[in-house]
Amino acid sequence: MGKMVSYNNNEISYDGCPGCAYAGHAFHLDCGLAYENEHFTLSQDWELPIPGFLIVAPKRHIEMLSELTEEERNEMFSIADKAVRILRENNICERFDYIFEEKENRHLHVWILPRYDWMAECTDDIIADLGAVFDYALYNFKNEEKYREIERVTGIVKNGFGSSK
Ligand SMILES: [Zn+2]
Repeated sequence: MGKMVSYNNNEISYDGCPGCAYAGHAFHLDCGLAYENEHFTLSQDWELPIPGFLIVAPKRHIEMLSELTEEERNEMFSIADKAVRILRENNICERFDYIFEEKENRHLHVWILPRYDWMAECTDDIIADLGAVFDYALYNFKNEEKYREIERVTGIVKNGFGSSK
């Protein structure tokens, strides 16, 4: 049984791979899913209270990009692209980093990280020292105001995906 603490301090437990458990709706975040279809989920990061920090992940357990069909690859990056457009159009953030995670024994995913101004205060090199950014968020953003902002941003993305294909 795996355990983690959600962005708003709920205890989450799951069996097996957390990516598969989430895809199968075995646990939920209070902000809800931003989007899902037959093959993918798009969601707020489970643990980090950074609004608009989203994860796109395939529903089936995949560890390598090469395991996705070409159609699925296109679909995954279209979802990531659309999420960023929605966030940008709604002035959540201007710049984003895509962080592609292919690691042994880990469920493949793409992170969409908004580049907020406060991140530059944490480290000189955000990508080299993401841990400093995450630590800052965990220490400073566990509050109702951020939780509401996370719900608001997830709602915006949800509406954006709901309004068109
Ligand atoms: Zn998995």
